[in-house]
Amino acid sequence: MSDKTFPFSREKLEEIAAEIPTPFHLYDEKAIRETARSMNKAFDWVPGGFKNYFAVKACPNPSIMQLLKEEGFGSDCSSLPELEMTDRVGICGEDIMFSSNDTPAEEYQRAKDLCAIINLDDITHIDYLEQHVGIPDTICFRYNPGDRRTGNAIIGEPTEAKYGLTHEQIFEAYRIMKEKGVKKFALHTMVASNELNPDYFIETARMLFQLAADLQKEVGVRIEMINLGGGVGIPYKPEEEPVDLEYVSRGVQKLYEEIIKPAGLDPMRIVMECGRVITGPHGYLISRVRHLSQKYKSYAGLDASMANLMRPAVYGAYHHISVPGKEDQPHDHVYDVTGSLCENNDKFAVDRSLPKLEEGDLVALHEAGAHGYAMGFNYNGKLRSAEVLLQDDGSFRLIRRAETIDDYFATLRFPGASVPL
Ligand SMILES: *Cc1c(COP(=O)(O)O)cnc(C)c1O
Repeated sequence: MSDKTFPFSREKLEEIAAEIPTPFHLYDEKAIRETARSMNKAFDWVPGGFKNYFAVKACPNPSIMQLLKEEGFGSDCSSLPELEMTDRVGICGEDIMFSSNDTPAEEYQRAKDLCAIINLDDITHIDYLEQHVGIPDTICFRYNPGDRRTGNAIIGEPTEAKYGLTHEQIFEAYRIMKEKGVKKFALHTMVASNELNPDYFIETARMLFQLAADLQKEVGVRIEMINLGGGVGIPYKPEEEPVDLEYVSRGVQKLYEEIIKPAGLDPMRIVMECGRVITGPHGYLISRVRHLSQKYKSYAGLDASMANLMRPAVYGAYHHISVPGKEDQPHDHVYDVTGSLCENNDKFAVDRSLPKLEEGDLVALHEAGAHGYAMGFNYNGKLRSAEVLLQDDGSFRLIRRAETIDDYFATLRFPGASVPL
């Protein structure tokens, strides 16, 4: 079971909402820091050092990245804007992983300029990189194990995945890069997403450790850093359990003794690039009940929509809903909780048992701290919401204002209007 208690009082929320109108995303700084610290602690045995590169796409906000930087995290980027944001936060050099796919030359250039660790997704990108930006001193390759591993529901089977180099290609790739004079080598994979089974990550470590040992033997390259990827899941549903990272770490440590040390690869850096598990559980979409209506079913219409949190509509994902101030009331009313988009799948919950709602009630949608705001969009003229950081000391800070109609219109060229090209 996972705890789905909303950690703040209704009074606190009303205080924030008095200043920042709903809907907004609210992040719990203290809980994010605690999560980062417990991850670092779980892996503090790693001889070459451990680091989590926060996957920027999960929650692309510089204030969040800044506090994670303070906890020793790096940044995992896959686009030019993510690299720029990372640079602006002052994260640089080997604290950046650039794990893109189908990548344009200017992104490789920017990554190289920032001295980021470039993680190549395809064997043809060796030539592409050399032609456009030159070969860096450090290189990483993304491995796709094909039918050597089974994937999971979200990411799919590795054989169907567009990512990474095949087993044969990866030996060839390191051989080529060795000839081209690369000095430092890293190895990466990402084969699961939102995975709750801790043994899956231990198996990923086994696969990569063995591959590093084989690369050493067959190609003569020494892998100095292994990136186990992200994909650590979170318990969206109350009956699910969080991944025990201490358990994962112990399993990885055992394999380190069994594979890495005998292969002469100690000390090795072991890193991850988790996003979801770091901020997901500690962000909430805060919204107000706007209209209650009774049709063939009971509907609670919120002032948020799937433009603010699209996972329920797109994946049928469960997101827990709390009604602060009514937690102790019987959950004896069944609602479809909806947004205002002209799409019938704009529902945060279907047939959800909640306390009796009233118009104006504040609701908190849980696990909205990753792939929440980040996946927002403007369809139907919906504007993206604000982001608020509830700080360690209990005060709150606006870390992104809500979009305005002017923002939405900013890229338009109205007929007859004279605007610069
Ligand atoms: C999305 C992604 C991540 C982060 O995944 P989480 O599920 O947020 O941990 C890490 N690495 C790559 C390459 C990704 O695409």
